[in-house]
Amino acid sequence: MIRPEFSNCLSRVIENPKATETDLIFLLDTINQKEQDLLFTEAARIRNQYCGARMILRGLVEFSSYCGNSCFYCGLNRTNSRAERYRLSPDQIVESARLVWNAGIKTIVLQSGEDGMEAQVIADVVYRIKAEHDMAITLSVGERPRKDYALWKDAGADRYLLRFESTNPELYASLHNGRTLETRLQCLDTLQELGYQTGSGFMVGTPGQTLEIIAQDIRFLAQKNYDMIGIGPFIPHPDTPLRNAPAGDIHLTLRAVALIRLTSRNAWLPATTAVGSLDRDYRVDALQAGANVLMPNFSPLDVKRKYGIYPGKRCVTETTADTDSMEDLARAAGLTLDYSRADTLK
Ligand code: SF4
Repeated sequence: MIRPEFSNCLSRVIENPKATETDLIFLLDTINQKEQDLLFTEAARIRNQYCGARMILRGLVEFSSYCGNSCFYCGLNRTNSRAERYRLSPDQIVESARLVWNAGIKTIVLQSGEDGMEAQVIADVVYRIKAEHDMAITLSVGERPRKDYALWKDAGADRYLLRFESTNPELYASLHNGRTLETRLQCLDTLQELGYQTGSGFMVGTPGQTLEIIAQDIRFLAQKNYDMIGIGPFIPHPDTPLRNAPAGDIHLTLRAVALIRLTSRNAWLPATTAVGSLDRDYRVDALQAGANVLMPNFSPLDVKRKYGIYPGKRCVTETTADTDSMEDLARAAGLTLDYSRADTLK
């Protein structure tokens, strides 16, 4: 049975996406299956209305597992001596972009740890890919000075992903060693100022996170009007200080996906790899809860396994990004597969 107060609360959020923290907490807190189904149905309806009933593909290339940072949740943190490190050469990255392009996908996401790679090397790679293909380039290489972001924008980069992970300063500090929330948010503001289509997001279920904090994060995302929003459950990595913490709740994650859809409306929202890497693959569930992007992994097979942010990551043994299975995922969620660049809808 759906409680009248749940329906009323949901209607308020649908009518006014500037939802109150209290309403978001109430909706996040339900474990009633019928209420969750209603929330997901409404989120999918709003997604179809604002973005179309389609699932966008972005080709992901993880080009370096080196990182100078030491986030307490991440298997690539610099203190993890068991992490296997690799760095693709510029030629290898450009070759990966060809694979993405040949698969018909018009966006490449170049991701790495905070490798410290010279800014000009990345700029040259961006320039070379742009010279070969009319494709959008998304960078996701962490915190860098404004001049680096500007250099890459000038070279042709279109988009940038940088999750804030939590807008709560204490929680942020408990997850990030020696870094501040202020710097992270400043980087995000800089990226928007420079004209990047900007993406951010957070993990659900990190130790110390509360429903209040999740609700605040959801409101922050809507207020910043990000073009892309990625969230996924916290998955503890055995070689990190948070190894013994429980994993984030997938159902709470799905409710957060739905509420982000209702409050941020026309953002591109991936069914993240983390959502597909749990006891089963929940990516269709995320699509049915309002997500609309999938990021097949085009990193060379021999390095996929080494990009170990969290354990059990799906796709590490796939030889190519299997577009037939992408079609199946889209169809299962009632969506059509879309290969376009899918620029910002803001
Ligand atoms: S989350 Fe990113 S910045 Fe932090 S340790 Fe992992 S790869 Fe490095």
